[in-house]
Parts: sequence; structure tokens; C-alpha cells
Amino acid sequence: MSSWKDIPGVKAGVVTGDLAWAILNHAKTNGYAIPAFNCTSTSTCNAVLEAAKGLDRPIMIQFSEGGSAFFCGKALDNKNKQASVLGAVAGAHYVRMVAPSYGIPVFVHSDHCAKKLLPWFDGMLKADEEFFAINGEPLFSSHMLDLSEETNEENIGTCAEYLKKMAPMRLILEMEIGITGGVEDGVNNEGTAKDKLYSTCEDIEQVYKALSPISPMFTIAAAFGNVHGVYKAGNVSLQPELLGTFQKHGIEKMSLAGPAPFFFVFHGGSGSTKEEIATALSNGVVKMNVDTDTQWAYWVGLKDFYEKKKEYLQGQIGNPEGPDAPNKSYYDPRKWVRESEVTMVKRVQEACTDLKNVN
Ligand SMILES: [Zn+2]
Repeated sequence: MSSWKDIPGVKAGVVTGDLAWAILNHAKTNGYAIPAFNCTSTSTCNAVLEAAKGLDRPIMIQFSEGGSAFFCGKALDNKNKQASVLGAVAGAHYVRMVAPSYGIPVFVHSDHCAKKLLPWFDGMLKADEEFFAINGEPLFSSHMLDLSEETNEENIGTCAEYLKKMAPMRLILEMEIGITGGVEDGVNNEGTAKDKLYSTCEDIEQVYKALSPISPMFTIAAAFGNVHGVYKAGNVSLQPELLGTFQKHGIEKMSLAGPAPFFFVFHGGSGSTKEEIATALSNGVVKMNVDTDTQWAYWVGLKDFYEKKKEYLQGQIGNPEGPDAPNKSYYDPRKWVRESEVTMVKRVQEACTDLKNVN
């Protein structure tokens, strides 16, 4: 397989536009996907960057609406999504600032944006436009619009309207059709009707026909029984081979160039088997979201540290070495936040391995 370093014009740091799209195309052609990790702080961003640096592979950092607000601090008013806009923009600037030092290409993306969150999307687009006016590229690499709860007509129509604004900046749009089940970032889709959990060939065709005349730079989070979060094996079955059916439809019924005309995104991948992921990869998945598993990994680092050093963490002074022994080197946040980062780095690298995003 050819290395990402063979991609013309590739560079370390945040990638956008034609280069970002070329990297996704490289992933599709070479049978790997790039995982996107939800980050809510500089610490979690750094863990993702550290993991990718260790593997020498491209990576994606994404901010959810709630995660964006958290990034700039819980104290700020978010009535009109102003904190979510500010946090996402601050996060993107932070990643832009440090990513080149990690020596790998990095995508900065915004996660699910439902209809009621459109003011957040509008605020980020404004920041993209301002950044573009100065630098000739958008601030972010890509944004997701998730109108999957609306009718197909409204969903696709809204995506087309936004893609028209994004296309001149060469911004990539990720859209969702069909619904990812489960709960994420406060959005509860646990009660969704079963048929909405599987997209159809007609859905994909409708999306392609509406969006491709505007810009080729869009990806589709199609539903194939995926569920956000980790649940016990249950009543919904994951069918990644469905994505292959869509690709075949694209080639045979829509006369698109094969072997995989569509760029798919895998949501709700936590808890999937290696086989399911491999099937998804062979059917044109170029991006997979990871949130729940890295949340757990971040927590486990702290949990293990506390359990191991419990007697050093009960007061500022006094531990098994003596009643006057200081504990500063244990409760300094750099100590225990670092423990979380170390376990998150490992989990990020595991996701990269699952997605064949390794050398
Ligand atoms: Zn998702």
C-alpha cells in the first residue's frame, strides 16, 4: 500500500480542501479509514495527536456541540450556542497551532449538528469564511450536518443549501441519512423505529443526486444498524455489508465509476467486532467516529492511578512514608491528567490499528 506521504502536497498540520479530500481518497483506495476522536479539552486533543505521532499516521479531531462548549468553559452562557461556537473555534485554532509539531496531517471536524443546533453551524461557518479571507483556506477541514431526524427532503435540501456555502471554501460536508441509534452528547435515539436504522439504496441515490452537482466533497454517514455507545448485544444487528450494496447500486444503477463511488462514515462503532469493521472498510468507509471507548480509556487511567496511589491522595500531607510526607507530586493535575492521557493514547492507537490506519 502506498504511504500517505506519497500524496502530492501532503504536509503536517491541519489539512483542508483538496488535500484533505485527497487523503480521504487515499484511504478509500488503500483500504483504511481514519478514526475521528471526540475531544473536549487540550488534554484529549494532545492524547490523540500523541497517538498519531507515535504511529506516524493521519488523524481526525472532532468537536461535538456540547464538547465545544465544554472546551471554552462551563461558566459561559450558551443560550444562542455562542459558547459552542467559541469553543469549537478555539479548539480548531489550538489544533492548528500545535498539529504541525506532531509531524502528521490532522483533520479538524465538527460532529453531529441537528436542526436545533444550526446556529452553532452558522457560527463555525462564519469563522471559516473569516479565516478563508485571510488564509485562502477554511478554519476547519469538515463539518457534519445531521438532519436525519427530519424527512429526507428536508434533510437533503438543507445539506444542499449548506454545501453551496461550503463549496467555494473547499470545505467537506459529512451528512447523515438514516438514524444512528442510542444516546450521544444528549441526543437520544433509543426509541427510533427499526427501519430508520438502515439506509436504503434510494436514500443514497437521492443524496448523491442533490449534492454532487454542487461539490464532490461530501461524505455520507449511512445507517446500517449502528448504535452510539456500548450496549449489550441486542435487537439491532450491524450490517456493514449494506454499504457494499449501496456501492454496487452506485456503479450498476447510477453508472458511477467503481469500485466504491461513495465515501462513507461509520458512526457508533464502539463495541463492533474486528470483522464488522473490516467489512465496513472494504465497502468504502473512510472515517470512523470513536467517542465512548476513548472516554472510558481516559477514565481508566485516572481510576487505576487512584487505586494504586490511594494512600498518597487523602490529604496534602501524610502518606505511608510518614505523617509529614508531602503528596504534591501525586495530586498535581499534571500527574493524574497525564495518567488519563497515557491510557487514551493506547486506545486511540488501538482504533487506528482496527481501521488499518497503521504503517
Ligand atoms: Zn455519531
